[in-house]
Amino acid sequence: MSPLSKVALATSCMLAMSAGTAPAASTITLVNGDGPGVGFNDSTAVAPVLNNPGTTLGQQRFNAFEAAMSFWEEKIDSNFDIQVRASWVAKFCSSGSATLASARPRTVHRDFAGAPRANTFYVSALASSYTETDVNGSTVDITTTFNSQLDSDPNCLGGRGYDYRINPPNPSSLTVASTVQHELGHGLGFLTLANRSTGELFNGRDDQFSAFLEDAPTGRSWSNMSNAQRAASAVSNGDLVWNGPRVTAQSNFLSSGTNAGKAELFAPTAIQGGSSVSHFSDKLIPNELMEPRSSVPQENWMTLKAMYDMGWRGNPCLTSDLPDDQWVMFSLECVPPVDENTVADILGDDIAGTYEDTWIVYEYSPTAARDYIKLKLTDKMQVAKGYWIGQIGGAATVLDVPDDSSRTPSPLACGSRLKCFEIPLRTAAGSTAYSFLGNPYRRDIPLNDMQVRTDSGSCINGCTLFEANANGVVFPQMYIFNGFTERYDLLEGGDILPARMGAWAATVAGAEGLNPRLWLSRSSL
Ligand SMILES: [Zn+2]
Repeated sequence: MSPLSKVALATSCMLAMSAGTAPAASTITLVNGDGPGVGFNDSTAVAPVLNNPGTTLGQQRFNAFEAAMSFWEEKIDSNFDIQVRASWVAKFCSSGSATLASARPRTVHRDFAGAPRANTFYVSALASSYTETDVNGSTVDITTTFNSQLDSDPNCLGGRGYDYRINPPNPSSLTVASTVQHELGHGLGFLTLANRSTGELFNGRDDQFSAFLEDAPTGRSWSNMSNAQRAASAVSNGDLVWNGPRVTAQSNFLSSGTNAGKAELFAPTAIQGGSSVSHFSDKLIPNELMEPRSSVPQENWMTLKAMYDMGWRGNPCLTSDLPDDQWVMFSLECVPPVDENTVADILGDDIAGTYEDTWIVYEYSPTAARDYIKLKLTDKMQVAKGYWIGQIGGAATVLDVPDDSSRTPSPLACGSRLKCFEIPLRTAAGSTAYSFLGNPYRRDIPLNDMQVRTDSGSCINGCTLFEANANGVVFPQMYIFNGFTERYDLLEGGDILPARMGAWAATVAGAEGLNPRLWLSRSSL
Protein backbone atom coordinates (compact mmCIF):
# COMPACT_ATOMS: atom_id res chain seq x y z
CA MET A 1 0.00 0.00 0.00
CA SER A 2 2.32 2.68 -1.20
CA PRO A 3 0.35 5.11 -3.33
CA LEU A 4 3.25 7.47 -3.80
CA SER A 5 5.26 5.00 -5.76
CA LYS A 6 2.26 4.06 -7.83
CA VAL A 7 0.91 7.44 -8.79
CA ALA A 8 4.01 9.59 -8.97
CA LEU A 9 3.46 13.05 -10.32
CA ALA A 10 6.39 14.74 -11.95
CA THR A 11 8.02 16.16 -8.83
CA SER A 12 10.02 19.26 -8.29
CA CYS A 13 11.50 20.48 -5.04
CA MET A 14 9.50 20.05 -1.86
CA LEU A 15 8.01 23.14 -0.31
CA ALA A 16 7.01 23.51 3.28
CA MET A 17 3.45 22.39 3.88
CA SER A 18 0.74 24.86 4.67
CA ALA A 19 -1.07 23.01 7.33
CA GLY A 20 -4.56 22.73 5.92
CA THR A 21 -5.99 25.66 7.78
CA ALA A 22 -8.99 27.28 6.21
CA PRO A 23 -8.46 30.77 4.90
CA ALA A 24 -10.47 33.53 6.48
CA ALA A 25 -13.16 34.95 4.21
CA SER A 26 -13.72 37.92 6.48
CA THR A 27 -12.08 39.48 9.49
CA ILE A 28 -13.86 39.94 12.80
CA THR A 29 -12.10 42.07 15.37
CA LEU A 30 -12.75 42.04 19.10
CA VAL A 31 -12.89 45.39 20.85
CA ASN A 32 -12.33 44.82 24.55
CA GLY A 33 -15.00 46.81 26.36
CA ASP A 34 -13.87 45.92 29.89
CA GLY A 35 -12.12 48.03 32.48
CA PRO A 36 -8.97 47.04 34.38
CA GLY A 37 -9.11 43.76 36.31
CA VAL A 38 -12.53 42.61 35.09
CA GLY A 39 -14.00 40.71 32.14
CA PHE A 40 -11.34 40.13 29.52
CA ASN A 41 -8.84 41.75 31.90
CA ASP A 42 -9.63 39.46 34.84
CA SER A 43 -6.25 38.12 36.02
CA THR A 44 -7.67 35.34 38.21
CA ALA A 45 -5.44 32.30 37.65
CA VAL A 46 -7.14 29.30 36.03
CA ALA A 47 -5.94 25.96 34.73
CA PRO A 48 -5.84 25.52 30.94
CA VAL A 49 -8.74 23.52 29.53
CA LEU A 50 -9.23 21.66 26.25
CA ASN A 51 -7.94 23.76 23.32
CA ASN A 52 -7.85 26.83 25.54
CA PRO A 53 -4.36 27.31 26.97
CA GLY A 54 -5.16 30.60 28.76
CA THR A 55 -3.92 30.72 32.35
CA THR A 56 -6.08 33.65 33.44
CA LEU A 57 -9.85 33.90 33.32
CA GLY A 58 -9.59 36.93 31.05
CA GLN A 59 -7.30 35.15 28.60
CA GLN A 60 -9.59 32.11 28.44
CA ARG A 61 -12.52 34.41 27.73
CA PHE A 62 -10.54 36.06 24.97
CA ASN A 63 -9.57 32.69 23.46
CA ALA A 64 -13.20 31.51 23.47
CA PHE A 65 -14.17 34.67 21.59
CA GLU A 66 -11.38 34.17 19.10
CA ALA A 67 -12.61 30.65 18.34
CA ALA A 68 -16.18 31.79 17.75
CA MET A 69 -15.06 34.70 15.61
CA SER A 70 -12.93 32.33 13.52
CA PHE A 71 -16.01 30.24 12.85
CA TRP A 72 -17.87 33.19 11.36
CA GLU A 73 -14.80 34.52 9.57
CA GLU A 74 -14.60 31.25 7.71
CA LYS A 75 -18.27 31.11 6.75
CA ILE A 76 -19.03 34.63 5.54
CA ASP A 77 -17.25 36.84 3.05
CA SER A 78 -16.54 40.51 3.58
CA ASN A 79 -13.70 42.79 2.62
CA PHE A 80 -14.44 45.01 5.58
CA ASP A 81 -13.54 44.35 9.17
CA ILE A 82 -16.46 43.42 11.37
CA GLN A 83 -15.92 44.99 14.78
CA VAL A 84 -17.40 43.44 17.90
CA ARG A 85 -17.33 45.33 21.18
CA ALA A 86 -17.69 42.84 24.00
CA SER A 87 -17.76 43.18 27.77
CA TRP A 88 -18.66 41.15 30.85
CA VAL A 89 -21.35 42.51 33.14
CA ALA A 90 -23.66 41.18 35.84
CA LYS A 91 -26.93 39.91 34.36
CA PHE A 92 -29.82 37.89 35.69
CA CYS A 93 -28.89 34.58 37.25
CA SER A 94 -30.64 32.30 39.74
CA SER A 95 -29.96 28.77 40.88
CA GLY A 96 -32.01 27.41 38.00
CA SER A 97 -31.71 29.78 35.07
CA ALA A 98 -29.60 32.61 33.72
CA THR A 99 -29.28 35.07 30.90
CA LEU A 100 -26.02 34.00 29.33
CA ALA A 101 -25.42 36.91 27.01
CA SER A 102 -27.00 39.34 24.62
CA ALA A 103 -25.93 41.06 21.44
CA ARG A 104 -27.21 43.55 18.95
CA PRO A 105 -26.10 45.27 15.79
CA ARG A 106 -25.22 48.92 16.41
CA THR A 107 -26.48 50.41 13.15
CA VAL A 108 -28.72 49.37 10.26
CA HIS A 109 -28.73 50.67 6.69
CA ARG A 110 -30.94 50.52 3.63
CA ASP A 111 -30.79 51.13 -0.11
CA PHE A 112 -27.00 51.20 -0.21
CA ALA A 113 -25.20 50.45 -3.47
CA GLY A 114 -25.68 46.80 -4.39
CA ALA A 115 -28.24 46.11 -1.68
CA PRO A 116 -29.72 42.62 -2.17
CA ARG A 117 -33.24 43.95 -1.61
CA ALA A 118 -34.61 47.49 -1.93
CA ASN A 119 -36.40 49.34 0.85
CA THR A 120 -35.00 46.89 3.41
CA PHE A 121 -32.80 47.53 6.44
CA TYR A 122 -29.58 45.55 6.82
CA VAL A 123 -27.23 45.29 9.78
CA SER A 124 -24.04 47.26 9.18
CA ALA A 125 -21.75 44.24 8.78
CA LEU A 126 -23.89 42.87 5.97
CA ALA A 127 -24.36 46.27 4.33
CA SER A 128 -20.59 46.88 4.39
CA SER A 129 -19.96 43.58 2.64
CA TYR A 130 -22.04 44.83 -0.30
CA THR A 131 -21.02 48.45 -0.52
CA GLU A 132 -17.30 47.72 -0.31
CA THR A 133 -17.14 50.59 2.15
CA ASP A 134 -17.45 50.63 5.91
CA VAL A 135 -21.01 51.93 6.14
CA ASN A 136 -20.79 53.04 9.75
CA GLY A 137 -17.24 54.34 9.85
CA SER A 138 -15.60 54.05 13.23
CA THR A 139 -18.74 52.77 14.99
CA VAL A 140 -18.45 49.11 15.95
CA ASP A 141 -20.82 46.75 14.11
CA ILE A 142 -21.92 44.58 17.01
CA THR A 143 -22.05 45.02 20.77
CA THR A 144 -22.36 42.05 23.06
CA THR A 145 -22.37 41.59 26.81
CA PHE A 146 -21.78 38.37 28.70
CA ASN A 147 -22.97 37.50 32.18
CA SER A 148 -20.02 37.69 34.58
CA GLN A 149 -22.14 36.22 37.39
CA LEU A 150 -21.61 32.70 36.08
CA ASP A 151 -17.95 32.82 37.05
CA SER A 152 -18.30 34.83 40.26
CA ASP A 153 -21.58 34.01 42.00
CA PRO A 154 -21.69 30.57 43.71
CA ASN A 155 -25.51 30.73 43.70
CA CYS A 156 -25.68 31.30 39.93
CA LEU A 157 -26.62 27.96 38.33
CA GLY A 158 -25.17 26.23 41.38
CA GLY A 159 -21.75 27.75 40.75
CA ARG A 160 -21.15 25.60 37.66
CA GLY A 161 -19.40 28.44 35.89
CA TYR A 162 -18.87 28.86 32.18
CA ASP A 163 -17.25 26.12 30.15
CA TYR A 164 -14.19 27.58 28.44
CA ARG A 165 -13.21 24.51 26.43
CA ILE A 166 -12.99 25.07 22.68
CA ASN A 167 -14.47 22.53 20.26
CA PRO A 168 -14.90 19.85 22.93
CA PRO A 169 -16.27 16.52 21.66
CA ASN A 170 -18.93 16.75 24.38
CA PRO A 171 -19.91 20.44 24.61
CA SER A 172 -22.06 21.61 27.50
CA SER A 173 -24.85 24.15 27.39
CA LEU A 174 -22.47 26.61 29.07
CA THR A 175 -19.73 26.39 26.45
CA VAL A 176 -18.73 30.03 25.99
CA ALA A 177 -17.42 29.65 22.43
CA SER A 178 -20.84 28.34 21.34
CA THR A 179 -22.61 31.18 23.12
CA VAL A 180 -20.38 33.73 21.41
CA GLN A 181 -21.13 32.06 18.08
CA HIS A 182 -24.86 32.43 18.80
CA GLU A 183 -24.61 36.06 19.85
CA LEU A 184 -22.55 36.99 16.83
CA GLY A 185 -25.25 35.34 14.72
CA HIS A 186 -27.70 37.96 16.02
CA GLY A 187 -25.22 40.75 15.38
CA LEU A 188 -24.70 39.52 11.83
CA GLY A 189 -28.41 39.77 11.11
CA PHE A 190 -30.26 36.85 12.68
CA LEU A 191 -32.84 39.01 14.42
CA THR A 192 -35.99 40.89 13.57
CA LEU A 193 -35.98 44.67 13.80
CA ALA A 194 -39.79 44.71 13.95
CA ASN A 195 -41.70 45.37 17.15
CA ARG A 196 -42.87 41.91 18.14
CA SER A 197 -45.71 43.18 20.31
CA THR A 198 -47.25 45.71 17.96
CA GLY A 199 -46.13 44.17 14.68
CA GLU A 200 -44.74 47.50 13.47
CA LEU A 201 -41.80 47.22 11.11
CA PHE A 202 -38.68 49.24 11.93
CA ASN A 203 -39.27 52.68 10.45
CA GLY A 204 -42.06 51.12 8.40
CA ARG A 205 -39.75 48.98 6.30
CA ASP A 206 -38.66 45.38 6.01
CA ASP A 207 -35.39 44.23 7.53
CA GLN A 208 -33.01 41.54 6.30
CA PHE A 209 -34.53 38.97 8.67
CA SER A 210 -38.24 39.81 8.77
CA ALA A 211 -38.44 39.73 4.97
CA PHE A 212 -38.11 35.93 5.17
CA LEU A 213 -40.77 35.36 7.83
CA GLU A 214 -43.99 33.73 6.76
CA ASP A 215 -47.20 32.40 8.26
CA ALA A 216 -47.25 28.77 7.14
CA PRO A 217 -51.04 28.20 6.97
CA THR A 218 -51.75 31.24 4.80
CA GLY A 219 -48.37 31.46 3.04
CA ARG A 220 -48.44 35.19 3.74
CA SER A 221 -45.11 36.98 4.14
CA TRP A 222 -44.45 39.44 6.98
CA SER A 223 -43.78 41.98 4.23
CA ASN A 224 -47.40 41.69 3.14
CA MET A 225 -49.05 41.74 6.55
CA SER A 226 -50.72 44.47 8.56
CA ASN A 227 -49.20 45.31 11.95
CA ALA A 228 -51.98 43.32 13.64
CA GLN A 229 -51.29 40.30 11.43
CA ARG A 230 -47.57 40.42 12.20
CA ALA A 231 -48.25 40.73 15.93
CA ALA A 232 -50.50 37.66 15.71
CA SER A 233 -47.90 35.78 13.68
CA ALA A 234 -45.26 36.49 16.34
CA VAL A 235 -47.26 34.41 18.84
CA SER A 236 -48.62 31.84 16.38
CA ASN A 237 -46.79 28.95 18.06
CA GLY A 238 -45.51 26.76 15.24
CA ASP A 239 -46.99 28.66 12.32
CA LEU A 240 -44.15 31.16 11.96
CA VAL A 241 -41.65 29.78 9.45
CA TRP A 242 -38.59 30.85 7.45
CA ASN A 243 -39.39 31.23 3.76
CA GLY A 244 -35.93 31.39 2.23
CA PRO A 245 -34.85 29.12 -0.63
CA ARG A 246 -31.62 27.85 0.95
CA VAL A 247 -33.14 26.95 4.30
CA THR A 248 -36.20 25.40 2.71
CA ALA A 249 -34.11 23.32 0.32
CA GLN A 250 -32.45 21.79 3.40
CA SER A 251 -35.55 21.30 5.51
CA ASN A 252 -35.25 17.51 5.19
CA PHE A 253 -32.15 17.92 7.34
CA LEU A 254 -34.58 18.41 10.23
CA SER A 255 -36.46 15.52 11.78
CA SER A 256 -38.58 17.91 13.85
CA GLY A 257 -39.46 21.60 13.76
CA THR A 258 -40.87 22.07 10.27
CA ASN A 259 -44.29 23.26 9.15
CA ALA A 260 -45.36 22.86 5.52
CA GLY A 261 -41.78 21.89 4.69
CA LYS A 262 -40.27 25.04 6.16
CA ALA A 263 -38.20 25.53 9.31
CA GLU A 264 -40.12 26.94 12.27
CA LEU A 265 -39.18 30.08 14.13
CA PHE A 266 -39.66 30.55 17.88
CA ALA A 267 -43.13 32.05 18.34
CA PRO A 268 -44.62 30.94 21.67
CA THR A 269 -48.13 32.09 22.51
CA ALA A 270 -46.80 34.95 24.66
CA ILE A 271 -43.88 37.14 23.61
CA GLN A 272 -40.73 36.09 25.43
CA GLY A 273 -38.38 39.02 25.86
CA GLY A 274 -35.70 39.06 23.20
CA SER A 275 -36.30 35.42 22.30
CA SER A 276 -39.53 35.43 20.31
CA VAL A 277 -39.23 35.51 16.51
CA SER A 278 -35.45 36.14 16.46
CA HIS A 279 -34.60 32.45 16.89
CA PHE A 280 -35.35 29.13 15.29
CA SER A 281 -37.96 27.11 17.17
CA ASP A 282 -36.74 25.06 20.11
CA LYS A 283 -38.51 22.13 18.42
CA LEU A 284 -35.79 21.78 15.79
CA ILE A 285 -33.99 18.42 15.77
CA PRO A 286 -31.05 18.40 15.43
CA ASN A 287 -30.75 21.42 17.72
CA GLU A 288 -29.55 24.53 15.97
CA LEU A 289 -27.14 27.26 16.95
CA MET A 290 -29.82 29.97 16.79
CA GLU A 291 -32.38 28.39 19.12
CA PRO A 292 -33.48 30.50 22.09
CA ARG A 293 -31.82 28.29 24.66
CA SER A 294 -28.39 26.78 24.52
CA SER A 295 -28.73 23.11 23.73
CA VAL A 296 -26.32 20.31 22.92
CA PRO A 297 -25.41 18.66 20.68
CA GLN A 298 -25.89 21.50 18.29
CA GLU A 299 -25.76 22.06 14.54
CA ASN A 300 -25.32 25.30 12.61
CA TRP A 301 -26.35 24.20 9.14
CA MET A 302 -29.79 25.82 9.03
CA THR A 303 -28.36 28.97 10.62
CA LEU A 304 -25.75 29.28 7.89
CA LYS A 305 -28.33 28.70 5.19
CA ALA A 306 -30.50 31.45 6.71
CA MET A 307 -27.51 33.78 6.66
CA TYR A 308 -27.02 33.10 2.96
CA ASP A 309 -30.76 33.59 2.34
CA MET A 310 -30.43 37.03 3.96
CA GLY A 311 -27.69 37.96 1.55
CA TRP A 312 -24.43 36.95 3.20
CA ARG A 313 -22.05 35.50 0.67
CA GLY A 314 -19.73 32.67 1.57
CA ASN A 315 -19.44 28.93 1.59
CA PRO A 316 -21.02 26.82 4.33
CA CYS A 317 -18.55 24.05 3.78
CA LEU A 318 -15.00 24.38 4.91
CA THR A 319 -12.28 25.05 2.45
CA SER A 320 -8.81 23.61 2.63
CA ASP A 321 -5.36 24.38 1.40
CA LEU A 322 -3.86 22.11 -1.21
CA PRO A 323 -0.09 22.49 -0.85
CA ASP A 324 2.17 22.60 -3.87
CA ASP A 325 4.00 19.44 -4.86
CA GLN A 326 2.60 17.15 -2.19
CA TRP A 327 0.20 14.29 -2.33
CA VAL A 328 -2.90 14.76 -0.20
CA MET A 329 -5.55 12.22 0.82
CA PHE A 330 -8.59 14.34 0.21
CA SER A 331 -12.25 13.94 1.11
CA LEU A 332 -15.39 15.92 0.29
CA GLU A 333 -17.23 17.16 3.34
CA CYS A 334 -20.39 18.41 1.68
CA VAL A 335 -22.42 17.03 -1.19
CA PRO A 336 -22.06 19.04 -4.39
CA PRO A 337 -25.22 19.63 -6.47
CA VAL A 338 -25.93 16.84 -8.97
CA ASP A 339 -25.12 19.14 -11.87
CA GLU A 340 -21.84 20.30 -10.31
CA ASN A 341 -20.26 17.14 -8.99
CA THR A 342 -17.50 16.28 -11.43
CA VAL A 343 -13.77 16.66 -10.91
CA ALA A 344 -13.88 19.69 -13.21
CA ASP A 345 -16.80 21.29 -11.35
CA ILE A 346 -15.42 20.79 -7.87
CA LEU A 347 -11.69 21.18 -8.33
CA GLY A 348 -11.17 22.57 -11.82
CA ASP A 349 -12.16 26.06 -10.74
CA ASP A 350 -9.76 25.98 -7.78
CA ILE A 351 -6.53 24.69 -9.27
CA ALA A 352 -4.58 26.56 -11.92
CA GLY A 353 -3.09 24.75 -14.89
CA THR A 354 -4.06 21.81 -17.03
CA TYR A 355 -5.44 18.58 -15.64
CA GLU A 356 -2.98 15.68 -15.88
CA ASP A 357 -0.25 18.22 -16.51
CA THR A 358 -0.07 20.23 -13.28
CA TRP A 359 -2.70 18.47 -11.18
CA ILE A 360 -4.37 15.09 -10.95
CA VAL A 361 -6.83 13.05 -8.91
CA TYR A 362 -6.86 9.30 -8.27
CA GLU A 363 -9.22 6.97 -6.51
CA TYR A 364 -8.47 3.57 -5.09
CA SER A 365 -9.60 0.44 -6.87
CA PRO A 366 -8.37 -2.91 -5.60
CA THR A 367 -9.13 -4.44 -8.98
CA ALA A 368 -7.33 -1.87 -11.13
CA ALA A 369 -4.03 -2.90 -12.62
CA ARG A 370 -2.06 -0.58 -10.35
CA ASP A 371 -4.64 -0.34 -7.56
CA TYR A 372 -5.55 3.22 -8.57
CA ILE A 373 -7.73 4.78 -11.20
CA LYS A 374 -6.91 8.19 -12.62
CA LEU A 375 -10.11 10.18 -12.67
CA LYS A 376 -11.26 12.03 -15.74
CA LEU A 377 -12.42 15.62 -15.47
CA THR A 378 -15.94 14.39 -16.17
CA ASP A 379 -15.93 11.73 -13.43
CA LYS A 380 -18.23 12.37 -10.49
CA MET A 381 -16.89 12.69 -6.94
CA GLN A 382 -18.64 11.40 -3.83
CA VAL A 383 -18.62 12.00 -0.09
CA ALA A 384 -17.15 9.33 2.20
CA LYS A 385 -14.59 8.29 -0.41
CA GLY A 386 -10.90 9.06 -0.22
CA TYR A 387 -9.07 10.61 -3.17
CA TRP A 388 -5.41 11.19 -3.88
CA ILE A 389 -4.87 14.66 -5.19
CA GLY A 390 -1.68 16.47 -6.12
CA GLN A 391 -0.72 19.66 -7.90
CA ILE A 392 2.53 21.23 -9.01
CA GLY A 393 1.27 24.68 -9.94
CA GLY A 394 4.03 26.38 -7.97
CA ALA A 395 1.98 27.55 -5.00
CA ALA A 396 -0.59 26.29 -2.52
CA THR A 397 -4.15 26.69 -3.67
CA VAL A 398 -7.50 26.65 -1.90
CA LEU A 399 -10.03 23.91 -2.53
CA ASP A 400 -13.70 24.40 -1.93
CA VAL A 401 -16.95 22.85 -3.04
CA PRO A 402 -19.65 24.64 -5.06
CA ASP A 403 -21.60 27.22 -3.05
CA ASP A 404 -24.85 25.30 -3.38
CA SER A 405 -23.42 22.14 -1.88
CA SER A 406 -25.52 20.42 0.77
CA ARG A 407 -24.78 19.24 4.23
CA THR A 408 -23.75 15.59 4.10
CA PRO A 409 -27.02 13.67 4.23
CA SER A 410 -27.77 10.53 6.11
CA PRO A 411 -28.47 8.05 3.35
CA LEU A 412 -29.00 5.48 6.05
CA ALA A 413 -30.59 6.60 9.28
CA CYS A 414 -28.55 4.12 11.31
CA GLY A 415 -31.41 3.97 13.79
CA SER A 416 -30.33 6.95 15.81
CA ARG A 417 -32.23 10.17 16.32
CA LEU A 418 -29.40 12.23 14.97
CA LYS A 419 -28.70 9.79 12.17
CA CYS A 420 -25.32 8.80 10.86
CA PHE A 421 -23.37 7.97 7.74
CA GLU A 422 -22.60 4.37 6.85
CA ILE A 423 -19.47 3.39 4.92
CA PRO A 424 -19.12 -0.21 3.73
CA LEU A 425 -15.73 -1.76 4.47
CA ARG A 426 -14.11 -4.11 1.96
CA THR A 427 -13.23 -7.63 2.99
CA ALA A 428 -11.04 -10.21 1.29
CA ALA A 429 -11.07 -13.97 1.79
CA GLY A 430 -8.23 -14.91 4.07
CA SER A 431 -6.45 -11.57 4.08
CA THR A 432 -6.48 -7.99 5.18
CA ALA A 433 -8.53 -5.70 2.94
CA TYR A 434 -8.12 -1.93 2.75
CA SER A 435 -10.81 0.67 2.21
CA PHE A 436 -9.90 4.19 1.15
CA LEU A 437 -12.61 6.23 2.83
CA GLY A 438 -13.19 9.89 3.60
CA ASN A 439 -14.63 11.85 6.49
CA PRO A 440 -18.07 12.84 5.11
CA TYR A 441 -18.65 15.58 7.67
CA ARG A 442 -17.40 19.09 8.12
CA ARG A 443 -15.82 18.31 11.46
CA ASP A 444 -13.20 16.06 12.91
CA ILE A 445 -14.44 12.66 14.05
CA PRO A 446 -12.85 11.01 17.10
CA LEU A 447 -11.93 7.38 16.37
CA ASN A 448 -13.36 6.50 19.76
CA ASP A 449 -16.79 7.64 18.54
CA MET A 450 -16.80 5.44 15.45
CA GLN A 451 -18.82 2.25 15.37
CA VAL A 452 -18.54 -0.91 13.37
CA ARG A 453 -21.63 -2.94 12.53
CA THR A 454 -21.83 -6.38 11.00
CA ASP A 455 -24.63 -8.61 9.71
CA SER A 456 -23.68 -11.40 12.11
CA GLY A 457 -21.39 -12.03 15.04
CA SER A 458 -20.75 -9.81 18.04
CA CYS A 459 -21.01 -6.46 16.31
CA ILE A 460 -24.58 -6.72 14.99
CA ASN A 461 -25.61 -3.93 17.34
CA GLY A 462 -22.41 -1.97 17.06
CA CYS A 463 -18.87 -2.20 18.37
CA THR A 464 -16.19 0.36 18.93
CA LEU A 465 -13.13 -0.05 16.74
CA PHE A 466 -11.39 -1.80 19.62
CA GLU A 467 -14.29 -4.16 20.22
CA ALA A 468 -14.55 -4.87 16.51
CA ASN A 469 -10.85 -5.68 16.49
CA ALA A 470 -11.25 -8.04 19.45
CA ASN A 471 -14.09 -9.70 17.54
CA GLY A 472 -12.03 -10.25 14.42
CA VAL A 473 -13.58 -7.61 12.17
CA VAL A 474 -11.31 -4.59 11.69
CA PHE A 475 -7.99 -3.15 12.73
CA PRO A 476 -8.55 -0.47 15.40
CA GLN A 477 -6.34 2.05 13.61
CA MET A 478 -6.50 4.15 10.47
CA TYR A 479 -3.77 5.71 8.38
CA ILE A 480 -3.66 9.21 6.97
CA PHE A 481 -0.94 10.56 4.72
CA ASN A 482 1.42 13.28 5.81
CA GLY A 483 2.56 15.07 2.67
CA PHE A 484 5.36 16.85 4.47
CA THR A 485 7.10 13.74 5.74
CA GLU A 486 5.79 11.62 2.84
CA ARG A 487 4.87 8.96 5.35
CA TYR A 488 1.63 7.66 6.77
CA ASP A 489 0.55 8.83 10.20
CA LEU A 490 -1.16 6.26 12.39
CA LEU A 491 -4.48 7.18 13.98
CA GLU A 492 -5.59 5.23 17.00
CA GLY A 493 -7.21 5.51 20.40
CA GLY A 494 -7.97 9.15 21.19
CA ASP A 495 -6.97 10.44 17.75
CA ILE A 496 -9.33 12.13 15.34
CA LEU A 497 -10.01 11.70 11.64
CA PRO A 498 -9.80 15.34 10.50
CA ALA A 499 -12.38 17.00 8.29
CA ARG A 500 -11.48 16.96 4.58
CA MET A 501 -9.22 13.98 5.12
CA GLY A 502 -9.14 10.63 3.38
CA ALA A 503 -7.94 7.62 5.37
CA TRP A 504 -7.14 3.95 5.07
CA ALA A 505 -9.17 1.55 7.19
CA ALA A 506 -8.69 -2.21 7.07
CA THR A 507 -10.66 -5.35 7.83
CA VAL A 508 -8.86 -8.43 9.12
CA ALA A 509 -8.70 -11.86 7.56
CA GLY A 510 -11.84 -13.71 8.52
CA ALA A 511 -14.17 -10.69 8.30
CA GLU A 512 -15.47 -11.79 4.92
CA GLY A 513 -19.17 -12.61 5.04
CA LEU A 514 -19.79 -10.28 8.00
CA ASN A 515 -20.55 -7.27 5.75
CA PRO A 516 -18.77 -4.82 8.06
CA ARG A 517 -19.76 -1.16 7.88
CA LEU A 518 -18.32 1.86 9.59
CA TRP A 519 -20.91 4.11 11.26
CA LEU A 520 -19.97 7.72 11.62
CA SER A 521 -22.57 9.42 13.75
CA ARG A 522 -23.55 13.03 13.71
CA SER A 523 -24.29 12.79 17.40
CA SER A 524 -20.63 12.30 18.08
CA LEU A 525 -19.71 15.51 16.34
ZN1 LIG B 1 -30.31 34.50 20.96
